[in-house]
Amino acid sequence: MYKKFLVGVAILFFVSANAQLRSPDEFLGYKIGTRYTPHWKIVSYFQHVAANASANVKVEQYGQTNEGRTLLLSFISSPENISRIEQIRLNNLRLANIAKDKAAPIEDGTPAIVWLSYNVHGNETSSSEAAMMTIWALVDPSNTKTKPWLKNTVVVIDPCVNPDGRDRYVNWFNSVVGKNMNPSMNAREHREPWPGGRTNHYNFDLNRDWAWQTQIESQQRMKMYNQWMPYVHVDFHEQGINNPYYFAPAAEPFHEVITQWQRDFQLAIGKNHAKYFDANGWLYFTKEVFDLFYPSYGDTYPLFNGAIGMTYEQGGGPAGGLGALTDEGDTLTLLDRATHHYTTGLSTIEVSSQNASKLVKEFRKFFNDAVSTGVGEYKTYLIKNGEADRERVNALKTLLDKNGVQYEFASGSSKGNGYNYFSGKDESFTVEAGDLMVHSQQPRSAMIKVLFEPKSKLVDSNTYDITAWSLPYGYGLTTFASKNKLQSSAGAGPTAITNNVSDAYGYVISWKGLQSVKALTGLMKQGVKVRFSETPFETNGQKFDRGSLIIIKKGNEKFGGSLASIINQTCNANNVKANMITTGFVDKGFDLGSSKIHFMKAPRVALLTGEGVGSNSAGEIWNFFEQSIDYPLTLINANDFGRITWSDYDVLIMPSGNYRFLIEKATADQLKDWINKGGRLIALEGAVGQLSRTDWAIKSKKSDDATDKKDPYGALQVYEERERESLRSNNPGSIFKVQLDNTHPLAFGYPSFYYTLKQDDAVYEFIKSGGWNVGVLKKDSQVSGFVGSELKAKLNDALVFGVQDMGGGKIVYLADNLMFRNFWENGKLMFCNAVFMVGQ
Ligand SMILES: [Zn+2]
Repeated sequence: MYKKFLVGVAILFFVSANAQLRSPDEFLGYKIGTRYTPHWKIVSYFQHVAANASANVKVEQYGQTNEGRTLLLSFISSPENISRIEQIRLNNLRLANIAKDKAAPIEDGTPAIVWLSYNVHGNETSSSEAAMMTIWALVDPSNTKTKPWLKNTVVVIDPCVNPDGRDRYVNWFNSVVGKNMNPSMNAREHREPWPGGRTNHYNFDLNRDWAWQTQIESQQRMKMYNQWMPYVHVDFHEQGINNPYYFAPAAEPFHEVITQWQRDFQLAIGKNHAKYFDANGWLYFTKEVFDLFYPSYGDTYPLFNGAIGMTYEQGGGPAGGLGALTDEGDTLTLLDRATHHYTTGLSTIEVSSQNASKLVKEFRKFFNDAVSTGVGEYKTYLIKNGEADRERVNALKTLLDKNGVQYEFASGSSKGNGYNYFSGKDESFTVEAGDLMVHSQQPRSAMIKVLFEPKSKLVDSNTYDITAWSLPYGYGLTTFASKNKLQSSAGAGPTAITNNVSDAYGYVISWKGLQSVKALTGLMKQGVKVRFSETPFETNGQKFDRGSLIIIKKGNEKFGGSLASIINQTCNANNVKANMITTGFVDKGFDLGSSKIHFMKAPRVALLTGEGVGSNSAGEIWNFFEQSIDYPLTLINANDFGRITWSDYDVLIMPSGNYRFLIEKATADQLKDWINKGGRLIALEGAVGQLSRTDWAIKSKKSDDATDKKDPYGALQVYEERERESLRSNNPGSIFKVQLDNTHPLAFGYPSFYYTLKQDDAVYEFIKSGGWNVGVLKKDSQVSGFVGSELKAKLNDALVFGVQDMGGGKIVYLADNLMFRNFWENGKLMFCNAVFMVGQ
């Protein structure tokens, strides 16, 4: 009786559990596409499905966004696969040669892993709606088509990669749409306000952040990605509302590391999609616009890591709303958009399931080839790790860890020969203890080649993004690429610095990179008074370079005997060395009481933001202050310029933007007046161009049009070649060598050169008086990447970084983006010099 009762309960529970599994429409209470689903409800739906179809589905929260929203993955497969999901994962890492254990992988019967990522751009909203339709199609008991796929396929769905951005859009849209949606493109519901929902909380584009992982969404997601390593990855996007659907195969340029199999399978997937689109009479295009070159996208990154990575683009985006009238007079609805993404999502799973064993085999081959032969001509990249490089080598090590790249530190000295990135020549070199070595024969070989190659091979220069990112330039590290594998027994590598300074006349901290900056901001926030030396000096047998931070008792009396322990704690926390000095009388250089030793006032810093300002540029600075150097920053709307008490600030940062206040005399005068009274204006990229149009700032360098004059037919162009012609005056982002005056505070901590990522043709005339040409381009300074032929002449003999004196204040011009996507590591110190050193 008792037993019978239990069975009865179990059956009841089983029946009711199944009965509870609801479609999105039933669960949400409205038909998908008729209104926007806020992120929390999407999460609830996925949890609902996992709770009520637990044999087929598992969900896992993998993190949280800056604004506290849940990041979630769901795993959908057959009950047999779900019950051994952890074994499948571990076996997969063995197939990729990246498992920690040495167990042999099993190839037969291994399911294909297909990962679908939705809504990385928050205002491309149809995709998260499609994610709910897609999981439902996979678990719907009445759907007989999808069930067989799950026998040999594990589907991973990330329903929303960028919840903060999505909700920014959805909350705004819901607040402006009327009782009925209005498809007219004039209606305000199609005009999303600044800064838009495309980006995350800090206005970073998460689809540019896969390799660099500067943002917490990417950091948390990539940990999961690297624990899974899918065979197929799709990134769902939206484009302009008039565009037909775009799917694989992608456009040239393809990076040369992409294998024939990866190309072939993109084609197979595209053809399968075409079948469904043809049957429905839907328009689509392939092989155009979306290329596979820059390594930090949701298609290229998976491709460089052994998967078939793809971008799918539906017409829509922030102008789409619930319905939008296209140029052809059709109303494109949110349901249409979601249905197209739903179709390609299922088609991707179908074709992957049909080819599961081939996918597994090719995936394994990709990683076996990587380990046995390696990708590319170089076998070892040797990164020198001198005392001045330590902080940037540490940063590089962190980046390699994030991407699963193996490396070692050399233990002893040996000789080698290879390509010197800085001289551009093959040279002999010495491997010293502590140098970082990355060998190409390892699982991530393709990614290593892409990140390290000195010059990437572009078969077609018409690309969507920057064309150069080689890490030795981005990190400013002396590197040699060797065609022979360097043999050196692995050493222990650098150990964390532990300081134990005691009561002394003073302390000195070298100024080398971001860790030094963090030590400075840490001390400043505690109220410690800091100075710096503008010239090198020697004392107590120790040599210190320009920019070295000096803390003496003078000014810090209030700390009494605890000053030493504050310095120990702050320097230990930031892994920098504090050096004790016993006297203010130096052996070489200037004594600590000299005017060459500058007192540093902790600057009160403001950043212009809001309408008219480039949201990515402002976001880079905002994120850097909060998440990297943890220093207070006041964000001010540029349109409020006339209403601000500027005497409350010492430093004003002006990102790229369109500044109205520079045109109006009253506010322009207010800015000049503030600078004259001692303010420091830091103008970044396009803001330099804006200032150059005033009569008091530096001047833009005009292009030399002499070449055009020589050719009387230079203006004639062939219509069909119009896209290619426009490239002649294009610089999508390439690397140039800048000559630095490193005796100026703006270049403290640098050698006499710097590799800059140049993304436009904006260069400036030298400052002839009343200022300093700190960073200049001389002849033939381009190092890597694509630059249009017409621009090359202009990018010579020009200023990119400079400082202009104005009354008691200064303007710092940083015409190239030192902070680009926060991955150009070597630019960050120069930006900090502008904030903390210049004008002190
Ligand atoms: Zn997008």
